[in-house]
Amino acid sequence: METRIGFGYDSHVFKPGVALHIGGLAVEHPEGLAGHSDGDVLLHAVTDALLGAIAAGDIGGFFPPSDPRWKDADSAIFVQQAREELQRAGYRIVNIDTTLILAAPKIGPIASEMRTRVADLLGLGIDQVSIKAKTPEGLGLDHVAQCQAVVLVERVLEPDELKSMTAVIESQRQLEDVVEDLLASVHGVPKRRGDAPLYDTEDIT
Ligand SMILES: [Zn+2]
Repeated sequence: METRIGFGYDSHVFKPGVALHIGGLAVEHPEGLAGHSDGDVLLHAVTDALLGAIAAGDIGGFFPPSDPRWKDADSAIFVQQAREELQRAGYRIVNIDTTLILAAPKIGPIASEMRTRVADLLGLGIDQVSIKAKTPEGLGLDHVAQCQAVVLVERVLEPDELKSMTAVIESQRQLEDVVEDLLASVHGVPKRRGDAPLYDTEDIT
């Protein structure tokens, strides 16, 4: 069985007047995490770990902060898209381990609810998701939340099974293109074309 490992890291600064979202939960706190999206530091680190496991780029490449679609976006979208990329590459998640580093709020009392939420987003059991938390002792970073995540994935589709699936998808796409061209010429319906994700390393999502 082929396994691969992925690692993700993210940080966001606390800002008054912003709602706090961590691990897909709305958390009661006087300050939230500033970001172009909802600033969910844990989901961003997990997204990067998933993409990293299959060497598919990073969160900034898939969801550029310059794109207005991701303004205040629910980070559940990012993590679910990364899960789809992983499935497309023929892998499934074995387990995820994360460490949050932040001075407040206390994560212990909500860790179980957070694990359930992350497990639900990824179609996993709660025993496949670990969420730990530490305070940033000696770092002088009490106004910042950081998160580190690692994920282990295993191959569930062999490369030739994947190739035949890709061929089916490709032929469906070509068929859709033909239909769209026909519609465009007959009814003047504008063509829609999916845009491929860009791969750059900028991440201020
Ligand atoms: Zn982030």
